[in-house]
Amino acid sequence: MKLIIHGGFFSESSQSEDVKNAKQNALERISRSSYDYLQNHTAEQTVVFAIEQLENDPLFNAGIGSQIQSDGKIRMSASLMNGKNKKFSGVINVQNIQNPIQLAATLMKEEDRVLGGEGANLYAEKIEIPVFSTETAERRKDYEEKLKSSRTSTVGCVVLDKDGSIAAGTSTGGKGFELPGRVSDSATVAGNYANDFCGVSCTGVGEDIVSGAVATKIVTRVTDGMKLSDAFKKTFHELAEFDGFAGAIALDKYGNFAVEQSHPKVVFASFDGTNFNVFN
Ligand code: ASP
Repeated sequence: MKLIIHGGFFSESSQSEDVKNAKQNALERISRSSYDYLQNHTAEQTVVFAIEQLENDPLFNAGIGSQIQSDGKIRMSASLMNGKNKKFSGVINVQNIQNPIQLAATLMKEEDRVLGGEGANLYAEKIEIPVFSTETAERRKDYEEKLKSSRTSTVGCVVLDKDGSIAAGTSTGGKGFELPGRVSDSATVAGNYANDFCGVSCTGVGEDIVSGAVATKIVTRVTDGMKLSDAFKKTFHELAEFDGFAGAIALDKYGNFAVEQSHPKVVFASFDGTNFNVFN
């Protein structure tokens, strides 16, 4: 059993040492509690558990603390993929709920598994997810200063459970200051993908992640026999050809993990019950 989580990009130029430490501590705490949870739960359930905690922490750009778009509104996206049954579910540009990953998880049982905008909100209402404002004073200040924030800090998680199943999840408030209606990579197979061989969650500029088909490419390469590290190398090399801005975390079925970024630097933590790794 193993898990890896990320907290998006950490830009040292725009964030203090205190914030960096706080993010690392949060990732450590969440990876440990999620690992405990994994003892009696599946990979899919554990991904949802981990991402909910990341969404509840205002340090990260997902759920509470999501970035504000150019029209002053927050729209969030999240997705979940179960590598065993190959089901992918997600919400795109949902507003005013605390945990978009919960909505994605509930959609797993529906025939229509990816909902956008108004439809996602109507579905949340139907299943009685309470209305909740995820705006924080800090994000409003960023917005009011009209800063196109470089603090891209989407969250993601990949889990390998005791049955050897892999699941991946990703949740985001978007890249900040975007046009209303812009679609993030986070609820697409470019940003979040898993099968029996490998699971990947991405962060960075959604447009670049989609252009590079990052998560799908890595998973496909591993499925076709490439080593996880080589699949990362090749995919990030292709991304560099157009100066794509992306980061990714992954686990393969053997429990190997990988982290890579085209620009410094993704915050992440991985845990297997004994070994703990963080970015520093
Ligand atoms: N990938 C997200 C997006 O473009 C942003 C991020 O990862 O921070 O919506």
